[in-house]
Amino acid sequence: MDLWSLEPVALPAELDVLRRGVRAFLAEELSSGRIAPNCDQWLGGWDHAFSRRLGERGWIGMAFPAQYGGSAAGALARFVVTEELLAAGAPVAAHWIADRQSGPGLLRFGTEEQKQAFLPRIARGECFFAAGMSEPDTGSDLASVHTRGRQVDGGWRLTGTKVWVSGAHRTHAMIALARTEPRTADRHAGLTQFIVELPDPDVHIRPIRLLTGEHHFNEVVLDDVFVPDARVLGEPGSGWQQVTSELAMERSGPERILSTFPLLAVAADHLAENGERSGASRVGAVVGRMWALRQLSLAVAGRLEAGAAPAVEAAAVKDLGTRFESVVIDTVRLLSQVVPDLGSNRPLPRMLAEAILHSPGFTLRGGTNEILRGVVAKELGVR
Ligand SMILES: Cc1cc2nc3c(=O)[nH]c(=O)nc-3n(C[C@H](O)[C@H](O)[C@H](O)COP(=O)(O)OP(=O)(O)OC[C@H]3O[C@@H](n4cnc5c(N)ncnc54)[C@H](O)[C@@H]3O)c2cc1C
Repeated sequence: MDLWSLEPVALPAELDVLRRGVRAFLAEELSSGRIAPNCDQWLGGWDHAFSRRLGERGWIGMAFPAQYGGSAAGALARFVVTEELLAAGAPVAAHWIADRQSGPGLLRFGTEEQKQAFLPRIARGECFFAAGMSEPDTGSDLASVHTRGRQVDGGWRLTGTKVWVSGAHRTHAMIALARTEPRTADRHAGLTQFIVELPDPDVHIRPIRLLTGEHHFNEVVLDDVFVPDARVLGEPGSGWQQVTSELAMERSGPERILSTFPLLAVAADHLAENGERSGASRVGAVVGRMWALRQLSLAVAGRLEAGAAPAVEAAAVKDLGTRFESVVIDTVRLLSQVVPDLGSNRPLPRMLAEAILHSPGFTLRGGTNEILRGVVAKELGVR
């Protein structure tokens, strides 16, 4: 792989109009108090009504064709919308997984009935999905999932435990990866993805709390839950190929750089208001680094727009981006001398506390940095 073959992308001028529209909408949402800015809102900012307002404007499901309720606007337009939402610290968690990976997965592998049943509702901001991949003994080594799918009359019965499942207590469905054939030498064979509609009396969802005490992710116990044949996603046995394409979607976006951007923006204002000029060069260095990463992330979106599957490039940019997100926190701590305080009504101490407490997850979620480096090393032929 030649990472530097990532071509620089200049956004077409018409996307400036889209960007201005999103900014104007967000300014109105913020000034009216309907939303409040925060860090890491694509994990923690759950707001059904806000998702619906985005859906009304065509800003969810931008990758879906019009026949399924999308705007078919493409990866670059979606990049512009998502980076504006993230930079503003808007509450986008409710629809994030459905828009980013479950919807595109349904579009690629789903039956016509599944597409009709879910995609228009996702695009309207009315149907949310969770990703059921990780298990207590299976995170990085996803092919070793223990959840089993057993074929029965008219469908399948799933048994097993998923962990760290973001949003499962509030979503309408979870796409679960399960082993449906005995394990053989080819450990990637015999896995299947299922659309488990929620809530279900045989699906037990328990909170796993973040360090802040917030409830965003869950343990999900599948207790012999029945899933009809109509809710198998793709071909039985093809789950590995499907889940890796889902992970490529999961890893490729600007959210891997911008989780702490609202903190940086608030801190820069704070330093300027207090006449703190001494830290200007450090802030400048952080912004410069962010801009370079943003260009890389944009180049990944450019590859997606061109129909490529830039999984390795996305892995490299995610590794660089998620480490940068913590550099932002360290820089703000150093320069602002503000005491982090989750309960503060001032944005800087509150955002700083929240960012610090969310930061352990940055380099874990969506595949840890060690695993991502393994992906890159393999491609380079050094592993
Ligand atoms: C905020 C957050 C949200 C999440 N949301 C979801 C979700 O919605 N759905 C979902 O399914 N999962 C979710 N996850 C789980 C996430 O995908 C896993 O935490 C991640 O894949 C790591 O798996 P693990 O926790 O089992 O750690 P392990 O795989 O046990 O890894 C532990 C450590 O060992 C290292 N390691 C493991 N294998 C290797 C190796 N081969 N080489 C080098 N180092 C290695 C890892 O890098 C890590 O540092 C979420 C996680 C977080 C933090």
